[in-house]
Amino acid sequence: MAAGYVETRVVHAVCSHDCPDSCGVLVTVESLTGADDHPSNQRLPGTPVDDHPSNQRLPGTPADGSRQERAVKVAGDPKHPVTQGFLCGKVAQYLERVYSPERLLYPMKRKAGRPKGPAGYGGAGSGETRGREADAFERISWDEALGLIAEKLTAIAAEFGPESVLPYSYAGTIGQLGFGSMDRRFFHRLGASQLDRTICSEAGGVALKQVYGVKLGTAPEDFRHAGMVIAWGANIHGNNIHLWPFVEEARRQGARLVAIDPYKTRTAALADEHLAIRPGTDTLLALAMMHEIFLLGLEDAEYLEDCTRGAAELREHALKAEHSAQRAAEVTGIPAARIVALAREYALCVERTGKPAAIRLNYGTQRSENGGTAVRAIAMLPLVTGSWQYKGGGLQLSTSGAFPFNSDALQMPELMKKSPLGRAARTINMSRLGWALTELGQTHGPTHDGEAVVNGAPGWVEGPAVKAMLVYNSNPAAVAPNQNAVLRGMLREDLFTVVHEQFFTDTTDYADVVLPAPTFLEVKDVQGAYGHLYAQINERAIAPLGEAWSNVKLFGELARRMGFTEKCFADTEDELIDQALATKDPRLAGITRERLEREGHAAVTLPRNKYGDVLPFSTREWFRTASGRAELLPVPEFVAPAESRRGSGARSGEYPLEFLPRKADNYMNSTFANIPRHQRMEAKTTGLLEMHAEDAAARGIRTGDAVEVFNGRGRVELRAQVGDAVAPGVVAARLNWNKLSGDGAGNVNALTSETLTDIGGGATFYSTLVEVRRR
Ligand code: SF4
Repeated sequence: MAAGYVETRVVHAVCSHDCPDSCGVLVTVESLTGADDHPSNQRLPGTPVDDHPSNQRLPGTPADGSRQERAVKVAGDPKHPVTQGFLCGKVAQYLERVYSPERLLYPMKRKAGRPKGPAGYGGAGSGETRGREADAFERISWDEALGLIAEKLTAIAAEFGPESVLPYSYAGTIGQLGFGSMDRRFFHRLGASQLDRTICSEAGGVALKQVYGVKLGTAPEDFRHAGMVIAWGANIHGNNIHLWPFVEEARRQGARLVAIDPYKTRTAALADEHLAIRPGTDTLLALAMMHEIFLLGLEDAEYLEDCTRGAAELREHALKAEHSAQRAAEVTGIPAARIVALAREYALCVERTGKPAAIRLNYGTQRSENGGTAVRAIAMLPLVTGSWQYKGGGLQLSTSGAFPFNSDALQMPELMKKSPLGRAARTINMSRLGWALTELGQTHGPTHDGEAVVNGAPGWVEGPAVKAMLVYNSNPAAVAPNQNAVLRGMLREDLFTVVHEQFFTDTTDYADVVLPAPTFLEVKDVQGAYGHLYAQINERAIAPLGEAWSNVKLFGELARRMGFTEKCFADTEDELIDQALATKDPRLAGITRERLEREGHAAVTLPRNKYGDVLPFSTREWFRTASGRAELLPVPEFVAPAESRRGSGARSGEYPLEFLPRKADNYMNSTFANIPRHQRMEAKTTGLLEMHAEDAAARGIRTGDAVEVFNGRGRVELRAQVGDAVAPGVVAARLNWNKLSGDGAGNVNALTSETLTDIGGGATFYSTLVEVRRR
């Protein structure tokens, strides 16, 4: 064909991966008119198939190649005030993911006679871990896929009740439309079980709201004004990288960075001081700091009086002998002198440096049995010292409360009344998926009529067994706790499983139907952030690859196929974005789709003081609690996790080591684990169990030894790495796909439990005990 010409355009997007930074992204797209031989249309080496995504044509364009398009560059948006033009290592080479030869491009169903399970794994010693998944499936059309799914859901709902259908999704995308809009409408109208999305942040989120009434905190830009920064369970350098330049700016002006973390993260290694706290003891450290502050009279009594409720009770509680630095040292593993010094340095920061102390608290802290209380206790520290009143002071766990998107308009919970149930469906906690798939309804028999019943056990509900599961935005076979129960449940032949995915994952191994999903370059969406204060538009940069459908299109089409006639199922992405932004809340005042399309991002509107500064919780107007003040009651009590070295768990003696099932630095939970570049970046720690020399010596283990890590729930095989990443009594390993882990049978979640947090019903990954032995 004759040479044509190339049009280049730059599209504003926003990274929708589950990360506080929500980076502004610029995608350069080349559209080619009239030529097949342009470099942007060259096939990747070794990818000879015509329908390979790198050779994708726009749907509806001529097959002769007279117009094709391709994203050729992904870069940070330099105009974004926080993310400032750079992307993290996970996303900087994102086109390798978008155009990966392993992308799923069309719907598939399981071939007759092919059992569920790890199709790509040939058994121990086979050397195979993946690559044969596609053999288990056959390509079908969208029409056939929708027909099959609608037929199965209709039959299951008729026989067992609609609550026997379970959606399973989380934050594979955090765009408003992709995270929760048309999908929720569909499941509400169907009468499917609701899903309590607790796996990541619920304990901390609910806890923060109990104290402050809203999930808000210090703006990242203001950390540069801090005189001291505490990274508490926060690996800023590893997974909140756009806060790092502001922390470094503060350090250049004299601020000290103290990391409190049971693991020597990148941030801890770069900090001025690392306090290796024992897992699950954060509440006690916070109380011990308060003990010292109150003992020395360093609290801000005026602020406490004006802005809090329960200060006298908190003071009395903190001053108890059990909260002294000496007693806390025995439990937390941090020397008493360091606790005292930390408390004084924190409370005297303004006197000492002229600037306040800031805490970056992250969600790892709350993935513990008493993690909700830990967040409440830590969140009270800037209330005790009054550091919210100074620019650069306070605390950030999340800023998501700054974005009051109209989720009722997006998700339409009123549709539950139009379901066959005629009422709200029961709610199943996603952190108890193993239980839900193996025990729920199995012994009680199906019931069609009752309200959800809580019988005292956290996360317990009654009703029918789960007979169908629709998975999207998540990879539960890899990320859900108590993995052996999850996989046992997903193996059930009577469970109909649909998975909407970009790649063959651990979860697609258990699917009956697999549907192709787009990346964020292929959809339009609107997004807030939980690490800054800017709403952004994600424009569609390229057409969906192959036959990938967005969540909006998938659930809208499926609704029509199920015979749901409500007009809302035909809403377009633009209409949904308009609905998300349709609120009278002043925080989103002036933010419209048109403005975001023009400007890319827009700051939310928050109260300003007389100097024009936004200082959350500096005055009473900020608190959203019932009392209008910060709630210090009930006072936070330290209780050791039952599954910890000091716990009351029945088997804590049998399994003496506290296990940290960590996220990999270069993956996003389980996302990116299949991308070769990311595997190379992560290679140094892949498949390793990190342990202290004392624990290794006691078991005759040396670096490089093959070890088995086990407890009553399961076992994993790893190689020992003896070093200083963890303190004695603690071992750590990283999350990976099952099919890429050890013997291919399971990953770190084979060891974690379905116990829920004290507040919010969250997952307790970091309350896990194990034993280790040489293989
Ligand atoms: S830092 Fe976070 S938001 Fe930014 S590109 Fe990386 S994963 Fe996406």
